[in-house]
Amino acid sequence: MLRVGIYGGTFSPVHAGHVAAAKAFMEQMWLDVLYVIPTGTTPHKQMDGEVTAAQRLRMCELAFADVEGVIVSDMEMRREGKSFTVDTLEALAGEDRRLFLLLGTDMMLTLGSWRNPARIFELCYPVYVRRESDKALDEQIVQKIAEYNQTYGKVVRRIVTDPIEVSSTEIRTAIRAGQGIEHLVPARVAAYIEENGLYQ
Ligand code: ATP
Repeated sequence: MLRVGIYGGTFSPVHAGHVAAAKAFMEQMWLDVLYVIPTGTTPHKQMDGEVTAAQRLRMCELAFADVEGVIVSDMEMRREGKSFTVDTLEALAGEDRRLFLLLGTDMMLTLGSWRNPARIFELCYPVYVRRESDKALDEQIVQKIAEYNQTYGKVVRRIVTDPIEVSSTEIRTAIRAGQGIEHLVPARVAAYIEENGLYQ
């Protein structure tokens, strides 16, 4: 059985938190391969008008260039209309493999309201990673996991990593304010953003 990970997001831009989470996911779920999939038109979020899909994809390629086993895929970008996770899972599913889906806490908590959650739970093992040290979320997380287990018969697994408190929003804000972002994104991504004048 091939162990295949899936990590989707807007990635506008991809940052150190994403890369750290992806690496921990690969190690802790013993993945053979990890698909990093930037969204096309995202159903969860308003798109950032200034940066093209191709640029978000390119930044992911740069960020993961050195991470063995990662495939950066444009499959959601090539799809017409909104990207739904369930469609991506259907496309990647196969008899020879087991799928694992990585989610940040924020995404994990809303999973039940995505398109066709029952099918999502059938197709993959959801895995979450904490993205904040906020203790206030602990109870909510435990409750949600119990709820999903009861409804869909699967336990959402957790990977453990030191939470890196960074978001793409914070990076876009820093750039607009003229602040450096070198410590928040991989060096090649910082260079690409600078060369192309993104998020100004
Ligand atoms: P934005 O600030 O624009 O909302 P973001 O930083 O949340 O962006 P996304 O591209 O929306 O980035 O995130 C993709 C996935 O990565 C989501 O599942 C999200 O929860 C997770 N994620 C984002 N930041 C981190 C982080 N610092 N550590 C772990 N997971 C993260």
